[in-house]
Amino acid sequence: MSYRLVQGELSFKFAAAHFVLGDTGCERLHGHNYLVEVQIYGEQDEAKNLVIDFLELKPFVRKFVEELDHKILLPTENPHLTITKKKNELFVNFIPKNKDYIFPESDVSLLPIKNTTVEEFARLLSSKLIPLFSKHPNIDAIEVGVFEYKGQGCWMKRTRDTI
Ligand SMILES: [Zn+2]
Repeated sequence: MSYRLVQGELSFKFAAAHFVLGDTGCERLHGHNYLVEVQIYGEQDEAKNLVIDFLELKPFVRKFVEELDHKILLPTENPHLTITKKKNELFVNFIPKNKDYIFPESDVSLLPIKNTTVEEFARLLSSKLIPLFSKHPNIDAIEVGVFEYKGQGCWMKRTRDTI
């Protein structure tokens, strides 16, 4: 028998500002009330009659959400964006348009991704959940969904043999 355990969207939300970057242009700064959902696929842990305890899963997701909530999200791996720190401010330049932003460092979450898309957010969060595979041999797959709003988002699934 296999099970699908859901840690649902009602538990995890964050509000944040971002702009998606292209090769020649970038969106205007804007915000979303993001939703995050995690699904764990696997067998029951026979000793506990659980796939995974919600109490173990929640802190991973909560930490991710708290780091992004009420922040301006910037990707550190995008070749078209330079981010330079001066005192407590970040000077951000979108190179193709020579477009500048200045943000207080405390308002920004710098993320090791290429773009602030839901695809990249899902990949980043799911990478943080990889340790659960080695800790719980009964888990077959972990799927992370990140939504800009209900109905618009992305699921990313990692299976035990593709991590
Ligand atoms: Zn957006």
